[in-house]
Amino acid sequence: MDGRFYDGKSARSHPAVVSVDAEAVTISTEEKARRWPSKGLSLTFEANEARLSHSAEPDARLVVSRTDWTQSGGLLAKQTARRDRSRERRLALTLAVVAAAVTGFVFFGIPALSGPLARATPVEYERNMGRNFDLQMNALFPRCDGEDGQVALQAMTDRLASNADTVFDIRIRAVQAPMINAFALPGGSIIVTDDLIRSAETPDEVAAVVAHEIAHVEKRHVMQAVWRSLGFGLILDAVVGGGSGAGQQAVILAGQATDLSYGRAAEHEADDRGRALLHEAGFSSRGMAAFFDRLSKMEDQKLAEAAEFAATHPASGRRAREARAAERPGAPALSAEDWRLVKSACKAEDPTLRVIRRNLGL
Ligand SMILES: [Zn+2]
Repeated sequence: MDGRFYDGKSARSHPAVVSVDAEAVTISTEEKARRWPSKGLSLTFEANEARLSHSAEPDARLVVSRTDWTQSGGLLAKQTARRDRSRERRLALTLAVVAAAVTGFVFFGIPALSGPLARATPVEYERNMGRNFDLQMNALFPRCDGEDGQVALQAMTDRLASNADTVFDIRIRAVQAPMINAFALPGGSIIVTDDLIRSAETPDEVAAVVAHEIAHVEKRHVMQAVWRSLGFGLILDAVVGGGSGAGQQAVILAGQATDLSYGRAAEHEADDRGRALLHEAGFSSRGMAAFFDRLSKMEDQKLAEAAEFAATHPASGRRAREARAAERPGAPALSAEDWRLVKSACKAEDPTLRVIRRNLGL
């Protein structure tokens, strides 16, 4: 290939014929031929030029076209590739170590740290996350359109939440979803499904479930669960390219909507605190045992399988016994009229959900 050689003594360039073999670059100008052994060679690319220099003649430069250099498949190209490969190997090793550390943190560190992390999470951050969740939940599970029932449900919730030690506004809504469930979102939103309302025999049962969920919010169990799921999401985001938060959202949402489990200790705490909230509001806490009992005794197996509240809130039988031992009488959580409104809030069923329900045989 042709090149231009600068000897470093004058600014003049010397036309050169350049050949490359496994050991050296040979540069022949009209005055002189020189061999630059591979050891000591360095190469940079600038625009469409390849620029070479050698430690033996630090001021001299050889310039060839980048295309020619690449096509020559010369030793330096190979050597550069080798250097790149070893750099890649080092990088891969570093990444593997980092990944192992991150994985260790996610699987062991985050669960252990999720409590402190949840308590340290700024309120505004959780509120924003909650707004995001609300939007996505709305898309998944449409709000029941019986507004009077929604208002009655909120009024009951306000009474329960008035004694809760939380900075969050507890907003509740009844939604259409093919499962018996209630769950709290980050930021204080609580969702109860139409199936749960349908399966409840008294307003006290709904109140007990709502009080339990308020306790999850108060104790910041929600954010704790989010932190646990977030760990997996962070990895997902790192893999997918990150920054979008899409991985985190997907994981959290899946966890929330399906089998999010706060863990036995947190459930126990929420049962106790929920019962206290019922008593402080002057309500009966008898609905709690009654509801757990019914879930654990559901004869229709399919219905029991669809009872997500039982799945995410396990050991209903034991919890029913504990609830019965600690229950106290009180005023009904809703007037007969308000209970009727809540019961009828979800009458108009969303057509898509009707199809899902039919396919599940519910
Ligand atoms: Zn719970």
